[in-house]
Amino acid sequence: MKKEKSPKRPLIYYYIIVVLCLMLINSLVVPWFAQRQVQLVDYNTFLDMTQQQQIGLVEVQEDQIVFTNKDNTAIYKTGRMEDPALVERLIDSGARFSQEIVEEMSPLTSLLLYWILPMLIFIGIGQWMSRRMLRKGGGGGMPFGLGKSGAKEYDKSSEGIRFADVAGEDEAKESLAEIVDYLHDPDKYKQIGAAMPKGVLLVGPPGTGKTMLAKAVAGEADVPFFAISGSAFVEMFVGMGASKVRDLFRQAKEKAPCIVFIDEIDAIGKKRDGQLGGNDEREQTLNQLLTEMDGFEGNSGIIVLAATNRPEALDPALTRPGRFDRRVPVELPDLKGREEILKVHARKIKVSDDVNFQQIARMASGASGAELANIVNEAALRAVRSGRGCVNQSDLEESIEVVIAGYQKKNAILTDQEKWTVAYHEIGHALVAAMQTQSAPVQKITIIPRTSGALGYTMQVEEGNKYLMTREEIENKIATYTGGRAAEEVAFGTISTGAANDIEQATKLARAMISRYGMSKAFDMVAMETVSGQYLGGEHSMACSMQTQAEIDHQVVELVKKQHEKAAQILLENREKLDQLAHYLYEKETITGAEFMEILRG
Ligand code: ADP
Ligand code: ZN
Repeated sequence: MKKEKSPKRPLIYYYIIVVLCLMLINSLVVPWFAQRQVQLVDYNTFLDMTQQQQIGLVEVQEDQIVFTNKDNTAIYKTGRMEDPALVERLIDSGARFSQEIVEEMSPLTSLLLYWILPMLIFIGIGQWMSRRMLRKGGGGGMPFGLGKSGAKEYDKSSEGIRFADVAGEDEAKESLAEIVDYLHDPDKYKQIGAAMPKGVLLVGPPGTGKTMLAKAVAGEADVPFFAISGSAFVEMFVGMGASKVRDLFRQAKEKAPCIVFIDEIDAIGKKRDGQLGGNDEREQTLNQLLTEMDGFEGNSGIIVLAATNRPEALDPALTRPGRFDRRVPVELPDLKGREEILKVHARKIKVSDDVNFQQIARMASGASGAELANIVNEAALRAVRSGRGCVNQSDLEESIEVVIAGYQKKNAILTDQEKWTVAYHEIGHALVAAMQTQSAPVQKITIIPRTSGALGYTMQVEEGNKYLMTREEIENKIATYTGGRAAEEVAFGTISTGAANDIEQATKLARAMISRYGMSKAFDMVAMETVSGQYLGGEHSMACSMQTQAEIDHQVVELVKKQHEKAAQILLENREKLDQLAHYLYEKETITGAEFMEILRG
């Protein structure tokens, strides 16, 4: 059962509207317009013209006489006088009598008025609409251009972005450098018969600089850059995604060597699942893309770059050799990468000399390139707000918290009891973490409420580049998550809603241990869960029987419970330190990692 082809409908509507408007114009606007063409003359002129046999058509109406000149190029009008011999004189002068003189103008004039003019108007409106859509959607498309388009639609400049502007991401740049070299000198490759990959897929989380990298390749190679986003194919070109793809590649071939960049390719390149009523439109677009990629020779000088943060959702046909056969991971930046990104963006603003970028990078662990750019900008805004001429260290530090946790909520008033609870809760996390690892667990803890809703905020210490975690480390982490709630229990004997996020995190870790990392005795090395969308937080789907699910749930509970007890135990054993640290945090509202360790050791 195929779904009705809805995409074509809007075009039909458009044409119906055009025809209706034409009729409206013909019945209202044109007569009015034609009336305006009629020149009013006095009766004497009329008589003179009659005498000189200069009248072509004439229409004698109740109170006026409408007439044309000999070659019907102009219409005149004059008032009617009492003149009995008029008709005879007119006949003698060779004038022809007519009923609808206004409509009987010369065929040329009427053709112009009735058809050419309205058409021009509509073409004008169409052009205007297409230009508006272009501006709105970036990609753009003519509503009745039937899949044709000007080069400008896709041709974006690469804005002079070079590899040097993309900080970090050295591995990605290395893989792309070869493509730049190829675009510089395709002949070198042709001589040997080496073919460049036709398509390169940039995969990674949002905001890591995939678009920037694609632009940088075009900038370095100094070739045209055609950019369009996958969702634009789906949204903007309803009913003509396929022809848009064809058109895009036609233009690219004309301008080769060049880069074609398709952002969010997963919007069109999703797995074709053959579901009932599946997305016809998208499949046609994808098929066309595949055909085009097969269509051009390996050495035609067109390189298709595509970006996605959902590589696992792509249709296998897209990723097979000969299409997007090279995959370049663009990961979240590591410490060094973050420092470089901060420096790149700090070049655009005034920064005081004492700023320690490495420390900022350390504090902003887990931030993407886009977030780091945002942090620098927030810092500049903060400097302006406080009337300083350049950005200093504290601006940057504060803006990390702003970007990650939201602005300080100046007027949020916690009750005293709430403030104590938050202080104990946050210290609970930190203390449990510190006692397990014997090192400073946090950069900083504050209990100033944030606009994001967080009542406190803990800045974790950069863990370095860690790729593996042992079972003990994960268990310790779960214990740390439960430490906040445990501290509330130990200190107040009651619990609050402040642990909702901790509970979520702890559960996620515990579940992963059992169903994905094979860290439970019962299930050995069997995967009970599959993950998709690893760059977007990850979606899990269970791949086991109902009984097993129940058993997993049971084990997750056991695991978290055990760590919760361990955390409570740690806090009980260090009750004195807990009180001391919580009091300090309550008083100061902010505690740094160094102060924390000092009190703990002291
Ligand atoms: P993506 O396409 O991966 O979602 P973008 O390339 O659009 O990310 O990056 C968004 C913004 O983030 C860029 O305009 C740039 O300011 C900043 N950015 C991201 N990564 C980097 C990087 N590696 N170096 C410098 N700036 C970066
Ligand atoms: Zn917590």
